[in-house]
Amino acid sequence: IFGDERKNSKGMNLNIISESTDFFSKLDSFAGTQWQGGPLVNGETLSSSGAPEQVFSPFDTTKLVGNITHADEQAIELALSSAKAAFPSWNHTPVEQRAVALNKLADLLEDNREELIALCTREAGKSIQDGIDEVREAVDFCRYYAVQATKMMATPEVMPGPTGELNELFVQGRGVFVCISPWNFPLAIFLGQVTAALAAGNTVVAKPAEQTCLVGYRAVQLAHQAGIPVEALQYLPGTGATVGAKITSDERIAGVCFTGSTGTAKVINRTLAERDGAIIPLIAETGGQNAMVVDSTSQPEQVVLDIVDSSFTSAGQRCSALRVLYIQEDIAERVLDVMKGAMEQLTIGNPQSVKTDVGPVIDATAAANLNAHIDHISQVGKLINKLELPEGTENGHFVAPTAVEIDSIKVLEKEHFGPILHVIRYKASELDKVIDDINSTGFGLTLGIHSRNEGHALDIARRVDVGNVYINRNQIGAVVGVQPFGGQGLSGTGPKAGGPHYLTRFVTEKTRTNNI
Ligand code: GLU
Repeated sequence: IFGDERKNSKGMNLNIISESTDFFSKLDSFAGTQWQGGPLVNGETLSSSGAPEQVFSPFDTTKLVGNITHADEQAIELALSSAKAAFPSWNHTPVEQRAVALNKLADLLEDNREELIALCTREAGKSIQDGIDEVREAVDFCRYYAVQATKMMATPEVMPGPTGELNELFVQGRGVFVCISPWNFPLAIFLGQVTAALAAGNTVVAKPAEQTCLVGYRAVQLAHQAGIPVEALQYLPGTGATVGAKITSDERIAGVCFTGSTGTAKVINRTLAERDGAIIPLIAETGGQNAMVVDSTSQPEQVVLDIVDSSFTSAGQRCSALRVLYIQEDIAERVLDVMKGAMEQLTIGNPQSVKTDVGPVIDATAAANLNAHIDHISQVGKLINKLELPEGTENGHFVAPTAVEIDSIKVLEKEHFGPILHVIRYKASELDKVIDDINSTGFGLTLGIHSRNEGHALDIARRVDVGNVYINRNQIGAVVGVQPFGGQGLSGTGPKAGGPHYLTRFVTEKTRTNNI
């Protein structure tokens, strides 16, 4: 429809996503929509004692996106008791039937993709390409967990019965699962958690990140429309301190699935340990201090593309994003020089424009913390490049993509969740120390390696303790069912989302020995 006009700055023609429908004019039709949402309890949007909160775009805080009502105590109580009451019926619904509802949800996400993408750009400040990827990933989660649950649960596994008894192993849901999701993937991770829990036979109480409650609200409406019983999926928008604390300390819940900061995961873990009731699982996917190791055999042009993509796409707001680049000193000058130029090619601005590569960060607090870190680290180290913010970004929470050279990963006391790349030069003789330093952070999420020496690359891959290694490519954008995603240590508990073992933590097992 828009021809070359709709090419993004990498020259990729976004029309490719829809040749037959008017994707962009549909997307534009949601440019001024005001969304309304609130707690969805037993399928009804509840009002609350407090007034609805106005939601403004991170890229322009004068632009209203809509209003959201947060869940109050009454909504929380009703959601938990109804989810608990609905569990036996949903758990005994044949898994094939649950899978039908999840596949129907995938269809509905595709049917409503323009609205969902528009909502992701406006409420979360995601670029259009990131919005497209959100919908794709959410669809993949629905379809993947439908298949995995059916494989795991459709028929009991018959175990050996040497004495003539019939031994069977059954897998079933655990009960009410609490799903607490992050703002950086407000649709994909939100639905990834929810569909995994539902596929496995649990009922769900879902709490989105407080910054992206409207995306979650639309997702739950679509899930209900797809045939997920309204009692089996309850939606409680609100803050961690109010809604999150309340639902994780409740005796009636049977598990928690959380994606967010390591600190919050530890708080939840403590809450679960201290509450009355059963010992229940916590599945946590948290942060990273992700490194890329580039040796002198690698190809500078390819390396630079992958560095820029891994560090600055999604404004660096992915837990997989590259934070610390280790570059062998023999090629450092050349690579950093080309990288400076490549950074200048990034288009920063309004995520509603298809030309935008780097949008805002999520809110004022995030922007202030990241900007303070840039000021600090530029003094500790040496600034390589900090982009100018263009006109039109004054009303938004923008942080300039920045690269800084530092001496050691140890000067980074925590993860900085934004478009900031730290660069460390190393000598070939120092590789063991590089690996020790990366492992010493305690995080273990993603690792990038660039080398044309395969034995060398595989050796590094083996020795660094992370969940996802990427050799000679970027290190973001794990695909469901292809690169199961998740880390170890401070980066999370596993199992990996979008992988064949994920559902195992959402179920309980029961054997039946029949001697009739
Ligand atoms: N799965 C995403 C990726 O591979 C990151 C998820 C996250 O940021 O939590 O880039």
